[in-house]
Amino acid sequence: MSAISEEFYLELLRRCGALRLNGHYVLQNGGHSDTYVAKSDVTALPGITTALADELANLLSGLGVEVVVSPAIGAIPIGFEVAFHLSQLRPDSTVRFVYAEKSDGGFELNRGYDQLVRDRRCAVVEDIVTSGATVQLVVDCIRRANGNIVGVGCIWNRAGAATEGLGVPKLESLITRQLSKWSAEECPLCTRGVPINTELGHGAEFLAKQQA
Ligand SMILES: [Zn+2]
Repeated sequence: MSAISEEFYLELLRRCGALRLNGHYVLQNGGHSDTYVAKSDVTALPGITTALADELANLLSGLGVEVVVSPAIGAIPIGFEVAFHLSQLRPDSTVRFVYAEKSDGGFELNRGYDQLVRDRRCAVVEDIVTSGATVQLVVDCIRRANGNIVGVGCIWNRAGAATEGLGVPKLESLITRQLSKWSAEECPLCTRGVPINTELGHGAEFLAKQQA
């Protein structure tokens, strides 16, 4: 991925207000950061979502993907659009889209989706990969259903997650820039007493736990 196109995608995210800089946020995995990517601001604009998904579909187009699987709920619009663009590249238009749902600390394929991934070439599509933990759980539930993982695609790989670390054959992303992230104990913003944002991310939960 060239630096120019990465800048282009960052500009798209800036334009829809999804890139929040110079704050103090608590991420899904409990890490703290000065930057937050408000992915729901991206999917609120289908024009931007489709443009990003189209590019991601191009990166995944050589993998012979038969089923796109996304973790519910946030990544569903992007995964659906990626599957749509991939199906346009195939004469028989049979690329499917399904989503995995949270369950007991993992993910599972309900609604008969386990039957749709069985023995098929599956790609996991996620919006933002922060630690890779969610992708890993989705990969696990596809493998339990005997689906074949051919790759993972995401808009932003913000923690530098690697193909090998995830145990998948391929990891594609539009943006690979790494963002600052600290553990709660080592967070310089906490040290300086910068107020934690409670509107975005998991700040409210973090503060409630601290007070408990
Ligand atoms: Zn902090």
